[in-house]
Amino acid sequence: MSKEPKLSPVFQEYVNLKEKHQDCIIFYRMGDFYEIFFEDAELVSKLLELTLTSKSCGLPVKAPMCGVPYHSVDGYIAKLVKLGYKVAICEQIGEVTKGKLVDRDIVRIITAGTVTSDTILENNKNNYLFCVNKYDNKIGVAYTDITTGDFYAGEYNEKEVNKINDILFAVEPAEIIGNSLAKTFIQALPSAKALDFPTIDVCLEEKFSLSYAKEVLSKQFNDNFEKIFELENNPVCVGACGALISYLIETQKSLLMQINKIKKVNIEDYMIIDATARKNLEITETLRHRGKKGTLLHIMDNTQTSMGARQLRVWLEQPLKNTKEINLRLDSVEELYSNLIFRDGIIQLLKNFCDIERLTSKIGMKTVLPKDLINLSNSIMVLPAIKKALANVKSTKLKELNNKIDGLEDLYSMISQTIKEEPSNLLKDGGFIKSGFNEELDRLRAFAERGRQNIMDLQIKERETTGIESLKIKYNNVYGYFIEISRELSNKVPLTYHRKQTVADSDRYFTEELKNMEEQLGSANQDIINLEQKIFNFLREKLLDYIEKLQETSKAISELDCLASFASIAVKYNYVRPVINDNIKQISINEGRHPVVENNLKAHEFIANNTLLNQTTDKIMIITGPNMAGKSTYMRQVAIITLMAHLGSFVPAKSAEISITDRIFTRVGASDDLSFGQSTFMVEMTELAHILNNTTDKSLIILDEIGRGTSTFDGLSIAWSVVEFLSNLSKAKVLFATHYHELTELEGLIPGVKNYKINVKEFNNSIIFLRKIVRGGANKSFGIEVASLAGIPKLVIDRAKEISKNIEQQNIKLNVEQNMTENNNMLENNEKIKQVANLLKDLNIERLSPMDAFSILSDILEKIK
Ligand code: ATP
Repeated sequence: MSKEPKLSPVFQEYVNLKEKHQDCIIFYRMGDFYEIFFEDAELVSKLLELTLTSKSCGLPVKAPMCGVPYHSVDGYIAKLVKLGYKVAICEQIGEVTKGKLVDRDIVRIITAGTVTSDTILENNKNNYLFCVNKYDNKIGVAYTDITTGDFYAGEYNEKEVNKINDILFAVEPAEIIGNSLAKTFIQALPSAKALDFPTIDVCLEEKFSLSYAKEVLSKQFNDNFEKIFELENNPVCVGACGALISYLIETQKSLLMQINKIKKVNIEDYMIIDATARKNLEITETLRHRGKKGTLLHIMDNTQTSMGARQLRVWLEQPLKNTKEINLRLDSVEELYSNLIFRDGIIQLLKNFCDIERLTSKIGMKTVLPKDLINLSNSIMVLPAIKKALANVKSTKLKELNNKIDGLEDLYSMISQTIKEEPSNLLKDGGFIKSGFNEELDRLRAFAERGRQNIMDLQIKERETTGIESLKIKYNNVYGYFIEISRELSNKVPLTYHRKQTVADSDRYFTEELKNMEEQLGSANQDIINLEQKIFNFLREKLLDYIEKLQETSKAISELDCLASFASIAVKYNYVRPVINDNIKQISINEGRHPVVENNLKAHEFIANNTLLNQTTDKIMIITGPNMAGKSTYMRQVAIITLMAHLGSFVPAKSAEISITDRIFTRVGASDDLSFGQSTFMVEMTELAHILNNTTDKSLIILDEIGRGTSTFDGLSIAWSVVEFLSNLSKAKVLFATHYHELTELEGLIPGVKNYKINVKEFNNSIIFLRKIVRGGANKSFGIEVASLAGIPKLVIDRAKEISKNIEQQNIKLNVEQNMTENNNMLENNEKIKQVANLLKDLNIERLSPMDAFSILSDILEKIK
C-alpha cells in the first residue's frame, strides 16, 4: 500500500505557524532568503512584482513560492506594511546542526504602528499606535510611538467626543486597535473620516480587563503607572493601556524597555487646530500636492536633526496656550536670535547628531547594531561641547535644557573602547569588537592571523615543490581554501593533490595539509565570531541602563534644535518677537506678512498689512475686494501669525500683539466629499455648523466665502445671519471674506463689525492689484477681468462683458420701468386727490350736518377705490 503524501517537516512547521498567525504574511527564513508560500506567495508576488515559482513540499503538487534576499528585506516589508498588511518574520532559532531540522519561530510581527525600520519610517514624523477602549459611556485612549518610547493615555466620557476627535487629529495614528464597541465609536468620528484612518483592528475583549492590565502594566512601568493613574478610578483608560502593551508584547515578542514613562494626554493645554484648519492653512501638507514644500512646516523647519524635525511637527500640532510657557520659549529664541556666534555655534554642533532618540529605542528593543553604536558615540562626543556652549545662557528654558542634557562620558568611553571605528554591520560576520578590548579575542585573532600566514607560506612551498610558478591558494565562501592550477599544467600536479572543482581553464585541488590548516583556521574564525557576539550582547545589556538618560538628553537636544531653528528663520526672514497678551484679548499686527507666500515672491514684492481684532469694537472684519486681490492670503496670514506666536516663534511682522487663542477655525473654498456622500454645499454647511457649535470667546475664525454653493439669496441670507450670530453670541475674532457686497451694510448695524477692502486700480481695461487692505467696502468683484488674466479665451471674455452689460442695463431698465410705474401711480393718485378736493369744494362741506358729510365722503372714497 502506498504511503499517504505528507508535508515535509519544514513545510509542516510553516503551516503550524501560519495557523497561529492567520492575519499575517509570514516571511520564512531559509538560509540567505525569506521565502513566502502558498496563497501568501501568490498575493505577495503580485503586490511586490516578484517572480512566482514553486517548491517541493512533500505533496504531489509543489507549493507556490516567492522569496527575497535577507539583506534587502526591509524595502519589501515596507511596501506591504504601507499597503496595510502585517508581516510576521520567522527566523531560524538556535544552532544549525547537520541532519537535524533547525528550529524556527516568529521573532517579530511588523504592523503599520510598530515598524522600526528606517526604510519604512519618516524621519520627521512620529509613528503612533493608538488603542481605544469603550466601556459603557466611558472611553479610554492610549497611544505610543515605539521608535521614541513616548506613551500617553487619558480617559473621557462619551460627551467629550470632541476631545477624542481633537486627539486623533493631532496624533494621526498609523494604526488603531480597540475593543468592538470602540471600533463602532471611532468609525463614526469626523476625524476618522477626515484623516483617512487605517482600518481598526479589534482585539480580544479580555485584553482590556483591569486585572490583565494590572499585570502587564506593573511589568512595563513598575510603579510609574500608578503615580499617573489611579487604577480603580480610571479603569477604562487602564484597560486601553493594558491592551496596548499586550499588543506590543504579541508583536514584538518582548517588553520594550524604551517605554518606561506614561504621560497623561492633556489636549486641554494646547490650541486646537482641527484637520480642516490644518489643511486649509497648509501647516504640514499643501492642499494640492499633499507635500511638505510650500507649507508652514517647510518654512519653519531649519532643524539640524531628525529628532528636532519631529519635535517641531509635534509643536506645530500642539501650540501652547499658556502665556508663561510661550514666553519661556520666546526668551530663549530671543537669546539665540540676538547672538550670532552663539546661535551659529549651537547649529554647527547640532549638525553632528544622529537620531539618538530612535537609536535609544533600538537599544530598548535590543536590535541596535555596531554601526548604530558608532553613530551614537559620535553624537555623544558632542554633548560636552553643547553643555559648554549653554553654560552661560540667561534664559530659563535654555538653562533647563542644559540641565537635562547629560554628558554621558561613561557611555561614550564604554562604546569607544569596545566597538571598532568602522565596524561591519552584520553580527554573523564578526569584525566589530576593537583589538585590545578582550585578551581571549586578541589571542584567537593572532592565532587566525598566523593560520592565514601559514596558508600563504604553504603557497610558496607548493610552488617550489611542484615547480608551478602560477600556482595560487585561493578562498571562496562556497568551497573554502583550494589550490588553483591552470589546466595546461595539470601534468605537473602531484598525486597528493585531490581535485575539488573544475572551472573554465583551471582545476582546483586540496591537500591534507591545506585541509588541516583550513579546519584550524575555520574553527578559530568561528570562535572569534562567537566571542565577538557574546561581548556585543553583554554590551547591549549594559546599554539598557542608559535608556532614560539618553531619552532625556535627546528630548532636550530636539527642543534646542527647534528653538535654534526658530531663531535662525527669524533672522533669515526678518521676523519679530510677538507680545503675548492675555489681558487685552486683542490681536494687533503691524505690517504682517504671510510667511509662505512672501517666500514665493521676490524680495519686497509682498505687501505687508495691518490687523486689529478684539472682543468689542473690532470683532468681525468683513473683507471685500476683487478676486485675486489677496483676501485669502491676508486672512490666512493672520491665522498663521497667531499660530506661530503660540509656538513661541517670532512672527513675520513689524510688530505683533497676540492674545491667547484656544482654537483656530477655518472654512475655506469649495470641495466635494463624494466618497462620504456629501455635496459641495453640504461640506460647506457641515464645516460651518462645526465652527458655530464649537467656537468660544477665545477662538479665531477664518471664513473665506460662506453660502457660495447655493442660490444668491439663500447664500446671502445665511452669510448675513452667521455674522449676526457670531456678533451676538460669541466674542470670537472673525475674518470674513465675501463677494456679497451687501454684507458691508452690517457695519454700523451690528456692533463690532468693521468693513475692510483690498484695493485695486483700474487701468487700460485691466486691473492692477495693490494688495493693501484699507477700511471700507468694495462694490465690484472684477471677476471678468481676473478671468481674462487667467487666460479664458477672448471670445468668452468679450461675450461675458456683453452679458454683464446687458444685465446691468436690464437692471437699470427694470429700475426705470419700476420708477415710471411708481411715478404714474403717484400721478394718478395726485389726479384723484385733486378731483376729491374739487368735489368737496363744490359741496361746500362745512355747511353740511356731520352725518350727511360722513355718508357723502364714504361714497366718494368707495368710488375712488
Ligand atoms: P479670490 O477672491 O479669487 O479667492 P483672493 O482675494 O482670496 O482671491 P488670494 O488668493 O489671497 O486672493 O491672492 C491671490 C494671489 O495674490 C496670491 O497667490 C499671491 O500670489 C498674491 N498676493 C496675495 N496677497 C499678497 C500680498 N499681500 N502681497 C503680494 N502678493 C500677494
